[in-house]
Amino acid sequence: MADQPMLKFVTVERDMPRKRAADLRGGDFGEIYSEYSDQKAAEQAGRCSQCGVPYCQNHCPLHNNIPDWLLMTASGRLREAHELTQATNTFPEICGRICPQDRLCEGNCVIELAGHGTVTIGSVEKYITDTAWEKGWIKPIKPAVERSESVGIIGAGPGGLAAADMLRRAGIQVTVYDRHDRAGGLMTYGIPNFKLEKEVVMRRIKLLEKGGVNIVLNCAVGDDVSFAELRSRHDAVLIATGVYKSNDIKAPGSGAHGIVRAIDYLTASNKKSFGDAVEEFDNGNLNASGKRVIVIGGGDTAMDCVRTAIRQGATSVKCLYRRDRANMPGSQREVRNAEEEGVVFAWLTAPKGFTGGDKIKGVMVQKMRLGAPDASGRQTPEIIAGEDYVEPADLVIKALGFSPEDLPELWGVPEIEVTDWKTIKANFQSHETSLEGVYACGDIQRGASLVVWAIRDGREAAQAMLTYLSDAKAVAAE
Ligand SMILES: Cc1cc2nc3c(=O)[nH]c(=O)nc-3n(C[C@H](O)[C@H](O)[C@H](O)COP(=O)(O)OP(=O)(O)OC[C@H]3O[C@@H](n4cnc5c(N)ncnc54)[C@H](O)[C@@H]3O)c2cc1C
Ligand code: SF4
Repeated sequence: MADQPMLKFVTVERDMPRKRAADLRGGDFGEIYSEYSDQKAAEQAGRCSQCGVPYCQNHCPLHNNIPDWLLMTASGRLREAHELTQATNTFPEICGRICPQDRLCEGNCVIELAGHGTVTIGSVEKYITDTAWEKGWIKPIKPAVERSESVGIIGAGPGGLAAADMLRRAGIQVTVYDRHDRAGGLMTYGIPNFKLEKEVVMRRIKLLEKGGVNIVLNCAVGDDVSFAELRSRHDAVLIATGVYKSNDIKAPGSGAHGIVRAIDYLTASNKKSFGDAVEEFDNGNLNASGKRVIVIGGGDTAMDCVRTAIRQGATSVKCLYRRDRANMPGSQREVRNAEEEGVVFAWLTAPKGFTGGDKIKGVMVQKMRLGAPDASGRQTPEIIAGEDYVEPADLVIKALGFSPEDLPELWGVPEIEVTDWKTIKANFQSHETSLEGVYACGDIQRGASLVVWAIRDGREAAQAMLTYLSDAKAVAAE
């Protein structure tokens, strides 16, 4: 490649003790590079050794051409770097902000593996694309030809929107239906504003609309329009509805007022960040201000809840998790951030019941220990008898994960095949379901996952749908 810059190999900060990036990323590291300039981005990008392996690219679900766009950034060729990031990723600035890079690209950077601290790939990706927006390099889609075929997409989350983008670029007439009043799926109403600013999501949605993607909001498929009707309206249909059934707690008192679901709590908070009037927030039910808050769960959703509660002005925030710190599913970076902000973690604890009758007053907490590993190799939590105690609480948030809704039943379409977990059965490359011309992608196909995987699925599904539509057209023309 021409114009290769001189590659520099520097550790993150010369006066900082050498630590693995996993240690640095949660604290100092994020702060050092939180605000990038051309120079800082180039310095980070220049730390890439161009190892030629490249593990980072292999561990990015989109197989982004990371080494090449780092090289371009290092030599100040930001516009080319932007074109390269955009070629494989529909929303690079969003992934740059919210991908768990420590488990994906950055965790597999050879510089990280050698103990020198990863190249901050996500932050550079964010910087490149934020700069592209600022400079006006990002333009609405203008298909070279318009095609007559139409596709209906159910769900305006990252999966559905990534597919919409690809299909529209090919000139397909695309309509996306969503039951919410805003598009974006969990990028809009799940992930908190302090991790992903809502303007960043909204400007992408406006761009898609300017490029001719028709987005129909407040339209719940199954209620406002039937699935059969959508199939008759469109030449192909993509199901990208995500997973929204909250896993629940069965314990005495669990129906008390003041025990709420994480998705309701986070949706209300995100709506407030748009400046909306939200009755359940405004009347205090979904507002942590001035309350003793307990969050139950140890995943990333639980971390989003505890950190949101802190920002809303809770008097105390505690997180109960039945395993220990090392065995929690949430990211260690998020735990560290939460602890720095004042969240207290009660490891190896689980709710046994709730006190207060109709209105929550406290959580009866039982202590746990880790027993023998189960079939998956994970140690099973066991109850320690006689060590229960009551933790006072005014608001309890249940963050125990999500399962798919039963779509065949809800939509009255038993022919849609689902797995034992109720995710839609579809081919993992073509995303074809059991119904002809119907495809599925994102969380509703793979189970609760990540934005970057939903983007990959949506792009793959779009590719398969284009082939299907072209084949159908060729047959019709015979
Ligand atoms: C609190 C929280 C925090 C998260 N944080 C991160 C993170 O930091 N990083 C990360 O990578 N991932 C994160 N995730 C996971 C990530 O958000 C999801 O994996 C991703 O959004 C899935 O995309 P999707 O398009 O499949 O579904 P979704 O984003 O869920 O979008 C589905 C859309 O379908 C719509 N819909 C559903 N049913 C219907 C219907 N019947 N009719 C019409 N519309 C319908 C919904 O309203 C929604 O807009 C988080 C998830 C949660 C819950
Ligand atoms: S999309 Fe995610 S995993 Fe891939 S390079 Fe960007 S931040 Fe890393």
